[in-house]
Amino acid sequence: MEIEVRSQSENEIVFVIRDAEVPFVNAIRRCAMVNVPKIAIEDVNIIKNDSAMFNEVLAHRLGLTPLVSDLDALEGLSLPEDDDWEEFSNGIMFSLNEVGPKVVYSKDLISSDSKIKPVYDTIPLVKLKEGEELNIEAVAKVGYGKEHAKWMPTTVCAYKQYPEITFNDDVEIDYDCAQACPRGVLKSDRRSKKIKILDIENCAMCKSCVRASDNGYINVGFKPNDFIFRIETDGAMPPKEVLLKACDVLGEKADKFIGFSEEGGSK
Ligand code: SF4
Repeated sequence: MEIEVRSQSENEIVFVIRDAEVPFVNAIRRCAMVNVPKIAIEDVNIIKNDSAMFNEVLAHRLGLTPLVSDLDALEGLSLPEDDDWEEFSNGIMFSLNEVGPKVVYSKDLISSDSKIKPVYDTIPLVKLKEGEELNIEAVAKVGYGKEHAKWMPTTVCAYKQYPEITFNDDVEIDYDCAQACPRGVLKSDRRSKKIKILDIENCAMCKSCVRASDNGYINVGFKPNDFIFRIETDGAMPPKEVLLKACDVLGEKADKFIGFSEEGGSK
Protein backbone atom coordinates (compact mmCIF):
# COMPACT_ATOMS: atom_id res chain seq x y z
CA MET A 1 0.00 0.00 0.00
CA GLU A 2 1.23 3.48 -0.88
CA ILE A 3 0.13 6.87 0.47
CA GLU A 4 0.80 10.15 -1.32
CA VAL A 5 -0.21 13.43 0.31
CA ARG A 6 -1.69 15.75 -2.30
CA SER A 7 -2.29 18.82 -0.17
CA GLN A 8 -2.12 19.72 3.48
CA SER A 9 -3.22 22.82 5.34
CA GLU A 10 -4.14 23.72 8.91
CA ASN A 11 -7.63 22.24 8.62
CA GLU A 12 -7.51 19.91 5.62
CA ILE A 13 -5.49 17.03 4.24
CA VAL A 14 -6.00 15.28 0.90
CA PHE A 15 -4.10 12.10 0.13
CA VAL A 16 -4.16 9.19 -2.28
CA ILE A 17 -4.09 5.61 -1.00
CA ARG A 18 -3.04 3.04 -3.58
CA ASP A 19 -3.36 -0.71 -3.48
CA ALA A 20 -5.88 -0.92 -0.63
CA GLU A 21 -9.32 -2.47 -0.12
CA VAL A 22 -12.62 -0.66 0.44
CA PRO A 23 -13.24 -2.19 3.94
CA PHE A 24 -9.81 -1.02 5.13
CA VAL A 25 -10.19 2.54 3.82
CA ASN A 26 -13.73 2.71 5.20
CA ALA A 27 -12.53 1.48 8.61
CA ILE A 28 -10.03 4.38 8.74
CA ARG A 29 -12.83 6.79 7.80
CA ARG A 30 -15.07 5.50 10.57
CA CYS A 31 -12.29 5.52 13.19
CA ALA A 32 -11.38 9.11 12.27
CA MET A 33 -14.99 10.20 12.71
CA VAL A 34 -16.03 8.37 15.86
CA ASN A 35 -13.01 6.93 17.71
CA VAL A 36 -10.57 9.84 17.94
CA PRO A 37 -10.80 11.69 21.30
CA LYS A 38 -11.71 15.37 21.31
CA ILE A 39 -12.55 17.96 23.99
CA ALA A 40 -15.98 19.61 24.15
CA ILE A 41 -18.17 21.25 26.77
CA GLU A 42 -20.25 18.56 28.45
CA ASP A 43 -21.87 20.05 31.56
CA VAL A 44 -23.30 23.56 31.76
CA ASN A 45 -24.50 25.25 34.93
CA ILE A 46 -26.59 28.31 34.04
CA ILE A 47 -26.59 30.64 37.04
CA LYS A 48 -28.29 33.52 35.23
CA ASN A 49 -29.56 33.88 31.68
CA ASP A 50 -31.54 37.02 30.91
CA SER A 51 -31.12 36.61 27.14
CA ALA A 52 -33.89 35.61 24.76
CA MET A 53 -32.12 32.30 24.10
CA PHE A 54 -33.41 29.21 25.93
CA ASN A 55 -30.94 27.60 28.37
CA GLU A 56 -30.96 24.34 26.39
CA VAL A 57 -30.11 26.09 23.10
CA LEU A 58 -27.32 28.04 24.77
CA ALA A 59 -25.88 24.85 26.31
CA HIS A 60 -26.05 23.19 22.88
CA ARG A 61 -24.19 26.12 21.27
CA LEU A 62 -21.48 25.90 23.93
CA GLY A 63 -21.13 22.15 23.38
CA LEU A 64 -20.59 22.64 19.65
CA THR A 65 -18.00 25.42 20.05
CA PRO A 66 -14.72 23.83 18.89
CA LEU A 67 -12.06 23.73 21.63
CA VAL A 68 -8.34 23.17 21.06
CA SER A 69 -7.91 19.37 21.30
CA ASP A 70 -4.46 18.64 19.90
CA LEU A 71 -2.15 16.03 21.48
CA ASP A 72 -0.70 18.63 23.83
CA ALA A 73 -4.15 19.65 25.07
CA LEU A 74 -5.32 16.05 25.53
CA GLU A 75 -2.31 15.01 27.57
CA GLY A 76 -3.23 13.96 31.09
CA LEU A 77 -7.00 14.24 30.62
CA SER A 78 -9.30 11.33 31.46
CA LEU A 79 -10.86 9.41 28.59
CA PRO A 80 -14.48 8.20 28.72
CA GLU A 81 -13.27 4.61 29.31
CA ASP A 82 -11.33 5.69 32.45
CA ASP A 83 -13.02 5.14 35.82
CA ASP A 84 -12.54 8.75 36.91
CA TRP A 85 -13.99 10.37 33.73
CA GLU A 86 -17.21 11.34 35.51
CA GLU A 87 -15.34 13.18 38.25
CA PHE A 88 -15.83 16.91 38.16
CA SER A 89 -12.13 17.61 38.80
CA ASN A 90 -11.14 15.82 35.61
CA GLY A 91 -12.80 18.38 33.37
CA ILE A 92 -11.67 21.81 32.23
CA MET A 93 -13.66 24.62 33.81
CA PHE A 94 -15.04 27.48 31.74
CA SER A 95 -16.81 30.59 32.98
CA LEU A 96 -18.80 33.25 31.17
CA ASN A 97 -20.03 36.37 32.91
CA GLU A 98 -21.22 39.19 30.67
CA VAL A 99 -23.68 42.09 30.83
CA GLY A 100 -25.41 43.62 27.79
CA PRO A 101 -25.69 45.37 25.53
CA LYS A 102 -23.26 43.19 23.59
CA VAL A 103 -22.84 40.11 21.47
CA VAL A 104 -21.17 37.39 23.53
CA TYR A 105 -18.48 35.65 21.50
CA SER A 106 -16.52 32.44 22.03
CA LYS A 107 -13.50 34.54 23.10
CA ASP A 108 -15.48 35.59 26.19
CA LEU A 109 -15.30 32.01 27.56
CA ILE A 110 -12.63 31.99 30.28
CA SER A 111 -10.82 28.66 30.56
CA SER A 112 -9.12 27.22 33.65
CA ASP A 113 -6.42 25.78 31.34
CA SER A 114 -4.60 28.18 29.03
CA LYS A 115 -3.98 25.36 26.48
CA ILE A 116 -7.66 24.51 26.13
CA LYS A 117 -9.73 27.37 24.74
CA PRO A 118 -12.09 28.01 21.81
CA VAL A 119 -10.35 27.53 18.47
CA TYR A 120 -11.96 30.67 17.03
CA ASP A 121 -12.58 33.91 18.93
CA THR A 122 -15.46 35.19 16.87
CA ILE A 123 -18.18 32.54 17.13
CA PRO A 124 -21.29 34.47 18.28
CA LEU A 125 -22.93 32.67 21.21
CA VAL A 126 -25.77 34.97 22.23
CA LYS A 127 -26.90 38.59 21.98
CA LEU A 128 -27.60 40.49 25.20
CA LYS A 129 -29.76 43.62 25.34
CA GLU A 130 -29.16 46.57 27.66
CA GLY A 131 -28.86 45.34 31.26
CA GLU A 132 -29.30 41.64 30.41
CA GLU A 133 -26.87 39.36 32.24
CA LEU A 134 -25.37 36.01 31.48
CA ASN A 135 -23.55 34.00 34.13
CA ILE A 136 -22.48 30.47 33.26
CA GLU A 137 -20.09 27.79 34.47
CA ALA A 138 -19.25 24.90 32.18
CA VAL A 139 -17.08 21.80 32.23
CA ALA A 140 -15.39 20.43 29.12
CA LYS A 141 -14.48 16.74 28.85
CA VAL A 142 -12.84 14.40 26.43
CA GLY A 143 -15.26 12.28 24.43
CA TYR A 144 -15.78 10.39 21.18
CA GLY A 145 -17.84 11.18 18.10
CA LYS A 146 -19.74 7.90 18.56
CA GLU A 147 -21.38 9.52 21.64
CA HIS A 148 -22.15 12.98 20.27
CA ALA A 149 -21.33 15.10 17.18
CA LYS A 150 -19.61 17.72 19.39
CA TRP A 151 -16.81 15.22 19.96
CA MET A 152 -16.39 14.46 16.27
CA PRO A 153 -13.01 15.89 15.15
CA THR A 154 -13.84 15.80 11.44
CA THR A 155 -16.23 18.05 9.55
CA VAL A 156 -15.49 16.19 6.31
CA CYS A 157 -14.09 12.67 6.26
CA ALA A 158 -14.69 11.00 2.91
CA TYR A 159 -13.03 9.09 0.12
CA LYS A 160 -13.76 8.34 -3.50
CA GLN A 161 -12.31 5.72 -5.76
CA TYR A 162 -9.61 6.95 -8.10
CA PRO A 163 -11.18 7.96 -11.43
CA GLU A 164 -10.09 6.34 -14.66
CA ILE A 165 -10.86 7.92 -18.04
CA THR A 166 -10.35 6.00 -21.25
CA PHE A 167 -10.95 6.91 -24.92
CA ASN A 168 -12.18 4.63 -27.68
CA ASP A 169 -9.75 5.11 -30.56
CA ASP A 170 -11.92 3.01 -32.89
CA VAL A 171 -14.49 5.80 -33.28
CA GLU A 172 -14.20 9.40 -34.36
CA ILE A 173 -12.96 11.85 -31.74
CA ASP A 174 -15.90 13.58 -30.07
CA TYR A 175 -14.99 17.06 -28.79
CA ASP A 176 -18.47 17.55 -27.27
CA CYS A 177 -17.55 15.39 -24.29
CA ALA A 178 -14.91 17.88 -23.15
CA GLN A 179 -17.39 20.79 -23.32
CA ALA A 180 -19.82 18.82 -21.14
CA CYS A 181 -17.43 18.45 -18.20
CA PRO A 182 -18.54 20.80 -15.41
CA ARG A 183 -15.27 20.50 -13.47
CA GLY A 184 -12.71 21.40 -16.12
CA VAL A 185 -11.17 17.94 -16.12
CA LEU A 186 -11.12 17.64 -19.92
CA LYS A 187 -9.84 20.00 -22.60
CA SER A 188 -10.31 19.72 -26.38
CA ASP A 189 -7.15 20.22 -28.36
CA ARG A 190 -8.29 20.36 -31.99
CA ARG A 191 -4.79 21.13 -33.24
CA SER A 192 -3.32 17.88 -31.96
CA LYS A 193 -6.71 16.13 -32.40
CA LYS A 194 -6.82 15.02 -28.82
CA ILE A 195 -8.82 15.42 -25.65
CA LYS A 196 -6.46 16.19 -22.81
CA ILE A 197 -7.07 15.16 -19.20
CA LEU A 198 -6.10 18.20 -17.14
CA ASP A 199 -6.80 17.03 -13.59
CA ILE A 200 -8.10 13.50 -13.24
CA GLU A 201 -8.33 13.71 -9.44
CA ASN A 202 -10.89 16.49 -9.80
CA CYS A 203 -13.20 14.15 -11.73
CA ALA A 204 -16.46 13.55 -9.85
CA MET A 205 -17.34 10.51 -12.01
CA CYS A 206 -20.63 12.22 -12.86
CA LYS A 207 -20.45 10.82 -16.44
CA SER A 208 -21.79 14.02 -18.04
CA CYS A 209 -19.02 13.60 -20.61
CA VAL A 210 -20.08 10.03 -21.35
CA ARG A 211 -23.72 11.07 -21.86
CA ALA A 212 -22.64 13.93 -24.14
CA SER A 213 -20.76 11.61 -26.46
CA ASP A 214 -23.13 9.93 -28.92
CA ASN A 215 -20.54 7.57 -30.36
CA GLY A 216 -19.15 6.20 -27.08
CA TYR A 217 -15.78 7.93 -27.53
CA ILE A 218 -15.16 8.38 -23.82
CA ASN A 219 -15.62 6.07 -20.87
CA VAL A 220 -15.30 6.90 -17.17
CA GLY A 221 -14.66 4.25 -14.53
CA PHE A 222 -12.50 3.92 -11.43
CA LYS A 223 -9.53 1.99 -10.11
CA PRO A 224 -11.02 -0.37 -7.51
CA ASN A 225 -7.99 -0.35 -5.20
CA ASP A 226 -6.94 3.30 -5.36
CA PHE A 227 -8.67 6.04 -3.36
CA ILE A 228 -8.61 9.81 -2.89
CA PHE A 229 -9.21 10.57 0.78
CA ARG A 230 -10.07 13.96 2.28
CA ILE A 231 -10.16 14.91 5.95
CA GLU A 232 -11.27 18.34 7.09
CA THR A 233 -11.47 19.37 10.76
CA ASP A 234 -13.13 22.21 12.68
CA GLY A 235 -9.66 23.37 13.74
CA ALA A 236 -9.74 21.58 17.11
CA MET A 237 -6.91 19.29 16.00
CA PRO A 238 -4.71 19.09 12.88
CA PRO A 239 -6.09 16.68 10.25
CA LYS A 240 -2.83 14.71 10.18
CA GLU A 241 -3.16 14.06 13.93
CA VAL A 242 -6.71 12.82 13.36
CA LEU A 243 -5.48 10.45 10.66
CA LEU A 244 -2.57 9.11 12.73
CA LYS A 245 -4.78 8.60 15.78
CA ALA A 246 -7.41 6.84 13.64
CA CYS A 247 -4.72 4.46 12.33
CA ASP A 248 -3.55 3.79 15.93
CA VAL A 249 -7.12 3.02 17.02
CA LEU A 250 -7.62 0.69 14.07
CA GLY A 251 -4.32 -1.06 14.89
CA GLU A 252 -5.37 -1.51 18.54
CA LYS A 253 -8.73 -2.93 17.47
CA ALA A 254 -7.01 -5.36 15.10
CA ASP A 255 -4.59 -6.46 17.87
CA LYS A 256 -7.51 -7.00 20.23
CA PHE A 257 -9.31 -9.07 17.64
CA ILE A 258 -6.20 -11.15 16.89
CA GLY A 259 -5.67 -11.74 20.63
CA PHE A 260 -9.30 -12.71 21.02
CA SER A 261 -9.18 -15.24 18.17
CA GLU A 262 -5.85 -16.69 19.34
CA GLU A 263 -7.41 -17.34 22.73
CA GLY A 264 -10.13 -19.28 20.93
CA GLY A 265 -12.74 -16.58 21.49
CA SER A 266 -13.09 -17.57 25.14
CA LYS A 267 -13.21 -13.99 26.51
S1 SF4 B 1 -17.12 12.15 -15.27
FE1 SF4 B 1 -17.89 14.24 -14.92
S2 SF4 B 1 -16.21 15.27 -13.86
FE2 SF4 B 1 -15.36 13.41 -14.74
S3 SF4 B 1 -14.52 14.02 -16.70
FE3 SF4 B 1 -16.60 13.33 -17.10
S4 SF4 B 1 -17.88 15.14 -16.95
FE4 SF4 B 1 -15.90 15.66 -16.05
